[in-house]
Amino acid sequence: MTVFNYTEQLAKEMLKRDEINSILTCKCEQCVDDVLAMALNKLPARYVSTESGRVFVKANYMQPQLQSDVLKELTSAAMVVASHPHHSRGEQGGSV
Ligand SMILES: [Zn+2]
Repeated sequence: MTVFNYTEQLAKEMLKRDEINSILTCKCEQCVDDVLAMALNKLPARYVSTESGRVFVKANYMQPQLQSDVLKELTSAAMVVASHPHHSRGEQGGSV
């Protein structure tokens, strides 16, 4: 049995958008996870258990309003993380 949070899936996909990438310049796992966790805490979870359920929820998320809610939360989370990153100094990699 697999339970699947569609909101999480959508947020992970939207995290790759240019709007987010331009704000969150550090792509380390800590920063990316922080943004995702912060955004998902403010968004409603959409759990589905079947392939058909997944399609149904996906159809819901095709609505511009729902997509823009996810993007809005990701954007504000990215701004918070970008200005107050939790990564330790050595982890950032340094190669740009
Ligand atoms: Zn980082």
